[in-house]
Amino acid sequence: MHNLPDTVKNAILDLRALSTDPISAFVYDLEGLQAHIKKIMAALPEKVELFYAIKANSDTEILDTLAPWVDGFEISSGGEIERIASCQQTLPFIFSGPGKLDSELEEAIQKQVAAIHLESINEIHRLQSIAKKFNRTQAVFLRINPTLPDTLSSRLTMAGRATPFGIDEMDLQEAVNAVDDSPNLLLQGFHVHAMSHQKSLSKHEMLIDFYLKRWPHWKALSNKPDNITHMNVGGGIGVNYTQEAQFDWSAFCHYLDRTLKSAPDAPILRFEPGRFISAFCGYYVMEVLDKKTSHGESFVICRGGTHQFRLPVAQSHDHPVIHLPLHNNKSEDNRPKDKRRWTLVGQLCTPKDILSRSCELNHCEVGDILVLPLAGAYGYNISHVAFLCHPTPLITYLPVQTPLEHGSMAQTKHGVNEETSCVTS
Ligand SMILES: *Cc1c(COP(=O)(O)O)cnc(C)c1O
Repeated sequence: MHNLPDTVKNAILDLRALSTDPISAFVYDLEGLQAHIKKIMAALPEKVELFYAIKANSDTEILDTLAPWVDGFEISSGGEIERIASCQQTLPFIFSGPGKLDSELEEAIQKQVAAIHLESINEIHRLQSIAKKFNRTQAVFLRINPTLPDTLSSRLTMAGRATPFGIDEMDLQEAVNAVDDSPNLLLQGFHVHAMSHQKSLSKHEMLIDFYLKRWPHWKALSNKPDNITHMNVGGGIGVNYTQEAQFDWSAFCHYLDRTLKSAPDAPILRFEPGRFISAFCGYYVMEVLDKKTSHGESFVICRGGTHQFRLPVAQSHDHPVIHLPLHNNKSEDNRPKDKRRWTLVGQLCTPKDILSRSCELNHCEVGDILVLPLAGAYGYNISHVAFLCHPTPLITYLPVQTPLEHGSMAQTKHGVNEETSCVTS
């Protein structure tokens, strides 16, 4: 069972009390996020860096909470440069992605980007002329699409087969030559982001082994190998949405430590995870609007839906649900035992608006609240919120409780359509 921190539960009750309509909301537990990132960073061995891939969740409050702990941010668009520019703290940032615009590359250079990940031969030539125009020597990484061993396939493989990302390993010599021949570019490392949703510790260890084995060969392609210090091994550490056990980060870090210590010419390893950093701090809250049975299947219909939280459909999974039995203020204990399996749907007029099937709830009532945890990454920001013109959900960030701020209230902000009324004191 997933547990709901008291702070999150109280915030939900506050939101409900302040709203005249039934609610849907995102609650982000920044205190929990801080505790999580502190643990992740503390476990990292020497010569390993971690940048947060902000596409998982680029809300300013999330970035400001992470900024004191991570080594930097990984971004993939001009809009994401704006996001990190509005942070309280300035951190190093790196820029990847297919289809970067000249204007985005220029903006990145003007904002002192730490490294640009080049994804094609054409992009190398474009960046050379831009860097020249700014009279800058720009550090770059070459993104490689390596030929991966069969054992390393994952659900969403971004490399090892035909993809628009990076440069095929067989074309790498040409790309390295092109960078070596570009007077305003400095090849500082290689980058591979091969996997997503990679929940297996042993597979991730094999992936690192594979990169470290290829590293000297890749480096040897350059005529200035001494400048090449970094291997960016991407993100892709998975979150287990349907079971309790999560990726064993601490065991992984011990493994990295042993491996790096036994490899004399090991690079500085750089990770850029997104999902594994911000997923755990987010909660999507839906209030029960109606119940019905259709052709033998029980449906619970809730405020909100997949237009606000697309993740379960995007991943084709049944999202876990925490039941807050609020109707008539009856606690769980006073309710009749009536355990049933429900299909949890939202308000959209499409049969695809399903967040969870076979969701077991005891005596679910209209007015109860259902909370979907693990909603902090690829949740709201990948959702098609304009569909059907429903109002946007409430969004609340529970602040980090530093001694000074103790007892301070959550800051609630609204989306674009401020229909749901909610005031914080
Ligand atoms: C999306 C992405 C990441 C983060 O992936 P997660 O699965 O969220 O860890 C890292 N690097 C690149 C290049 C990406 O495109």
